[in-house]
Amino acid sequence: MPRPIQARIDLSALEHNLQVARRASSSARIMAVIKAAAYGHGLLRAAEALKTADGFALLDIRDAVQLREAGLRQTILLLEGFFSADDLSLVAEYDLACVIHSPQQIAMLEAYPRRGGLQVWLKVNSGMNRLGFAPQEVPAVMERLNAHPAVRDITLMTHFSHADEAAGVAAQLEMFNALAAPYRLARSLANSAALLRYPATHADWVRPGIMLYGASPFPEVSAQQLGLRPAMTLHSEIISVRELDKGEHIGYGGQFRTETNMRVGVVACGYADGYPRHAATGAPVLVEGQRTRTLGRVSMDMMTVDLSGLPDAKIGSNVTLWGEGLPVEEVAYAAGTISYELLCALTVRVPTYS
Ligand SMILES: *Cc1c(COP(=O)(O)O)cnc(C)c1O
Repeated sequence: MPRPIQARIDLSALEHNLQVARRASSSARIMAVIKAAAYGHGLLRAAEALKTADGFALLDIRDAVQLREAGLRQTILLLEGFFSADDLSLVAEYDLACVIHSPQQIAMLEAYPRRGGLQVWLKVNSGMNRLGFAPQEVPAVMERLNAHPAVRDITLMTHFSHADEAAGVAAQLEMFNALAAPYRLARSLANSAALLRYPATHADWVRPGIMLYGASPFPEVSAQQLGLRPAMTLHSEIISVRELDKGEHIGYGGQFRTETNMRVGVVACGYADGYPRHAATGAPVLVEGQRTRTLGRVSMDMMTVDLSGLPDAKIGSNVTLWGEGLPVEEVAYAAGTISYELLCALTVRVPTYS
């Protein structure tokens, strides 16, 4: 038998969360963001569950090709566009839409002899200062793209830096709308946070990611309050139980010392499975559905949990690391990070099933 750790992917939760996105985004089309193996949920499985989306966005051209070969017919958008002339041949062959964010990409496109059919998503830097053209560069870029025989249509897009925080989207939204106004082109701005909080950002295409997987993009609002259901439940089992006396220590570095006699359980889950090592003592965990906490450091393959108050817990008891009954956001918070990182960090040695 393999180790008991597994991740269960709830396909109906993915479908449900897509409907939540659909209802919240008025008439905008939905570009489901499935980068990073669909935030750890599995590329093809997630795409199948989200098949009523209007498009799919990801980064790796090999994944995009895989989706086409699996029969997907919607728009497939490469969020960082193409990286080489070879990519451009695949883009044409598989009819992929491309973000264009740099002069180098435009030069590559101009050197490429193809005619007709390329869908461009022109990325504008409205304040994130990562990818994209400055607003004042857009007119010249538009001219070059419009003059190019291969460009079929252009969507203007931008990405928000503070949609999940108090600072919000106002300044970026205003800048983007001003530069987009002279063009009668489709527009796309909203990630999950903007989709849920700022209807003025919905425009023609919304780009939800994290909410589809049932996690909240906001630190102060839970997924449940947003009507979202967790799509991934990471679970394992207790593989050892021991009684410790007061004053004994647990795990590497002896970071946790018992203050009383204590019953502890060892769980088959460690940082090599993707559980965050930073979630030392106190991170929440469920044993047979009851909430308890981690003790001491997380090691590569194991972690220790507090079984005081859980007299029935034993070897083989079911442990939920996150997911149904335990929001991944809470575990992320205990580890000083965000749910996105935990979901994506699940390692290949953890079997997933649905
Ligand atoms: C990842 C990503 C998204 C999705 O963001 P969420 O916060 O997960 O909803 C949207 N747009 C772009 C450009 C992205 O890279």
